Amino acid sequence: MKLFSTIGRRKIPAHKKESLAREPFVLDINKVTHVYFPLVAGNNAACDPLVKVGDKVKVGTRIAFRQQFSVPLFSSVSGTVSAIEKRMNVITGRPCDHVVIENDFKMEHDALLEKVNLDAPKEHIVEAIKEAGIVGLGGAGFPTWLKYNNVKGIHTVLINAVECEPYLTTDYTLSKLNATKIVEGARYLQKAAEAKELVIAIKVKKEAARDALIEASKEYSDIKVVEVPDRSPMGWEATLIYELYKKRYNRLPSEVGIVVNNSTTAMSVYEALVEGKVITQRLITVSGNVVKNPTNVYVPVGTLAEVVLNEFEIDEEKEFSLLPGGPMTSNPARDASFALQTNHGGLTLLEKVKFRTIPCLRCGKCTANCPAGLQPVEIMRAFDARDYVRLEKLETLRCVDCGLCSYVCPSNIELTDLMKKSKTILRVHQAGKK
Ligand code: SF4
Ligand code: SF4
Repeated sequence: MKLFSTIGRRKIPAHKKESLAREPFVLDINKVTHVYFPLVAGNNAACDPLVKVGDKVKVGTRIAFRQQFSVPLFSSVSGTVSAIEKRMNVITGRPCDHVVIENDFKMEHDALLEKVNLDAPKEHIVEAIKEAGIVGLGGAGFPTWLKYNNVKGIHTVLINAVECEPYLTTDYTLSKLNATKIVEGARYLQKAAEAKELVIAIKVKKEAARDALIEASKEYSDIKVVEVPDRSPMGWEATLIYELYKKRYNRLPSEVGIVVNNSTTAMSVYEALVEGKVITQRLITVSGNVVKNPTNVYVPVGTLAEVVLNEFEIDEEKEFSLLPGGPMTSNPARDASFALQTNHGGLTLLEKVKFRTIPCLRCGKCTANCPAGLQPVEIMRAFDARDYVRLEKLETLRCVDCGLCSYVCPSNIELTDLMKKSKTILRVHQAGKK
């Protein structure tokens, strides 16, 4: 089945106003006694520790290094490495070793990165992005430098400020507050890709952020700020590219001459290359229908979710699920003892609703709404039968975890969860065959 041969775009209640009703605040650093860094990245790649128990570190000290794709991790506080211990990694869903740093509350900073001019050679810009350990902050956590390394034939860098996940508002907030940094950071990305055009995409009805981005880019004739419809999953880069360019690709947007980066990632490029700072804190949205004071909060990377949630009034009378991200793409966490990493954009707390799951009605809605053109109901059957040949034939690995199939299923079948499990068993099976 072809990509986008289905409806694949739904209007979903946004619930953004809740967290935007209050100003963002900075988590009091004195409440963060320890920070935690998993030694396994989201794609299960191992990270080697560069510190040992007892070592002193500062804000911005390199503490670990992911060999695959060469990504350094940095401490977000100053203090002492107090342990390397096993904890739950909510991104991979499995326990793994974490570097634990005890905060000395002095917030002493390590040396800044070497600053880079916009007129530096593109290879120099890509190398600086690599050294700064910048990964996609829209959720995927993919190393940014890889998208620009030796790319050719790119006509457009597309900055994605769409943020279609319900409840989350960090990209919107930072686009409004830091539009100049986003535009200037994006210009480094444009230079790295040697792209003629720079396009910043934002959803309709986000006037304050849209206007800030237009104002910040008004001097540049090769930058366009464009609005896209409020449909899900418009933030998925394949949907966004099709919306704007009516182009499809198989694996990577570069096949059609485009590189996509999230808007907050562009801001981090500015902070690294112009200000010399690595990512040691990030803005996250804490929201959901059991949070009485939803808002955005700046937290040091590695802070435990439970420390952040202590700052919020939660309706404890209601039974709720804690999602380490938005409701469409994340699975509930077992508890709040996990550490927030650079690619965590939010914590969503939703009242548990008891759905009665009934057998599949064969209505076809999951297939009709899948933006990747997959057949979730058939994948579910192949999963149940552990039919790997059929899972491959159904192109299971092309699922992007957008959550739409679960959202539309009248039988309340947790299809997205089944898609994730199907991808896992298929990958394990394929690795075994190799
Ligand atoms: S979660 Fe996967 S299978 Fe379900 S609608 Fe999204 S892309 Fe399609
Ligand atoms: S949407 Fe649900 S009930 Fe309808 S075909 Fe898909 S799995 Fe079956």
